[in-house]
Amino acid sequence: MNKLKTLLQLVLLLVGGATFHQTTPAQNRSDRALINEARRITNDDFSFTGQTSKGARIYAVNQPNSRMLDAIDQGLTDLFAIARENNYQRRLNYSDYTIFIAKADRTTNREKVYSPDIAVSAAQYAGSVYDQGGFVYAAGMVLAYNPCAFVFAEHTRDFQRVSDVVRYEGEHLVLYHNDRRFYQRTADHSRGGGHPILK
Ligand SMILES: [Zn+2]
Repeated sequence: MNKLKTLLQLVLLLVGGATFHQTTPAQNRSDRALINEARRITNDDFSFTGQTSKGARIYAVNQPNSRMLDAIDQGLTDLFAIARENNYQRRLNYSDYTIFIAKADRTTNREKVYSPDIAVSAAQYAGSVYDQGGFVYAAGMVLAYNPCAFVFAEHTRDFQRVSDVVRYEGEHLVLYHNDRRFYQRTADHSRGGGHPILK
């Protein structure tokens, strides 16, 4: 995997890629299983454990600063507001969310815009325009639905993007728990559609 990651770094320098993310359904994960899944997907160790001031649970490769944590809370606040407008009521507590902050596998996208993303297996995106040769760059990725968990990359600036990624990953989780049919229609971006889903 280390060799693969080195290869990815080289490849990303050459080709860049589109920003998007994918989801992998998983349910009823214990914390240990969740951490193992995050490690498997990112090849990172999540040595920092903590929470945001509003109570979202955090696992991170490095201790996040307050701007990062506040941006996460803001993304969840935005998510809960739009969810309530759609009359969704389940999983609208900060403590319902477990968020992993991984190392960025790239920090700029193909257009040279700051875009910390993670490289993940191409899965259903294999052969699509996103496919970088067995992997794709993702802004974030859902890890589990019970508890609600997702992963995205460390940011050192553009914290608005952090809030956006949190809100967008959270959309899939809120929909899963509140509107399963809508969730199923919007979960797989390889068939089209993006974010925001909730308006
Ligand atoms: Zn999505």
